[in-house]
Amino acid sequence: MSNEKEIESRRRFLKVAAGTTVAAVVMGGLPRFARAAALPPLTDADPTAKALDYVPDASKSTNPKHKPGDDCSNCMFYSGGKTGSGPCQLFPGKSVEAKGWCVSHSPKQG
Ligand code: SF4
Repeated sequence: MSNEKEIESRRRFLKVAAGTTVAAVVMGGLPRFARAAALPPLTDADPTAKALDYVPDASKSTNPKHKPGDDCSNCMFYSGGKTGSGPCQLFPGKSVEAKGWCVSHSPKQG
């Protein structure tokens, strides 16, 4: 008697399980920004940071090319928020300070 019912309920279970897997994959793909925020901070010990005269606090830069008001938060290579830190295209895998600066600073367009 219940053989068919069992098969039916198993089918339903499999459908639900498959749906859950899809949901998990979608969820797994979502937190890109969360992961970006968790990038390790760039330090001035980094050779590229040294080469580009990166400082985590733009106001402390002694580089003659630094203009007052220029910092990572208004640089076209930066994709983080106005405060805190975020990714910079020039330093993949690291986060730079919003108020940081380096010699490659290029003003954001628009
Ligand atoms: S390129 Fe721009 S965002 Fe990247 S460290 Fe230099 S100033 Fe900051």
